[in-house]
Amino acid sequence: MLKIVLLGAPGSGKGTQSEKLVAEFGVPQISTGDLLRSAVANQTELGQKAKAAMDAGELVSDDIVVGMIRERLKQDDTENGFILDGFPRSLDQAKALDGLLDDMNRPLQGVVHIKVDNEEIVQRLMARGRSDDNEETIRNRLKVYQEQTQPLVKFYEDKGLLTAVAGVGEIDEIYARIKAALPAGAAFAGD
Ligand code: ADP
Repeated sequence: MLKIVLLGAPGSGKGTQSEKLVAEFGVPQISTGDLLRSAVANQTELGQKAKAAMDAGELVSDDIVVGMIRERLKQDDTENGFILDGFPRSLDQAKALDGLLDDMNRPLQGVVHIKVDNEEIVQRLMARGRSDDNEETIRNRLKVYQEQTQPLVKFYEDKGLLTAVAGVGEIDEIYARIKAALPAGAAFAGD
């Protein structure tokens, strides 16, 4: 069982570290960014609504992302847990998540905050080269992160759920820190 949120700025390595957790713990990674990109690629109605916000580095509306998460959490593969990556990204989303998980009787075990400073983030994102990784969008995503997502640190701290890890160094080194930060009760899906 592993039911966690990975919190961190764009480019902090949430996706990379999620993949390693998926392999070790056998629970799915749920990334709203990936879900949104696939909706855009498939030109669904939802994708068309989300695209402008994504291109500008703004947050997609809460009803879209919360709706996506609600549907995704209903799927059977989340029975032993999930790794939420890129969601929640605002206090309203965090409260909506609490509500969804309460209804399902599956409370979060913990939140791991991967900390990387802004200079390093800009370098990493410029090097990554995704279509929304141009300098202007990157700056806006960082601003949106500071304003809307950073308050989640205190929100989860107050709930006693948050652990911070340094997100710099080798990938395996960071992964070891994350594993050490996992909540008690984290275990492989089959255990
Ligand atoms: P990054 O971690 O580099 O910001 P993501 O793949 O997490 O990349 O997100 C890409 C874009 O998708 C965001 O800039 C935003 O427009 C949108 N997005 C992803 N997750 C959310 C969310 N939880 N709420 C609102 N918008 C989101």
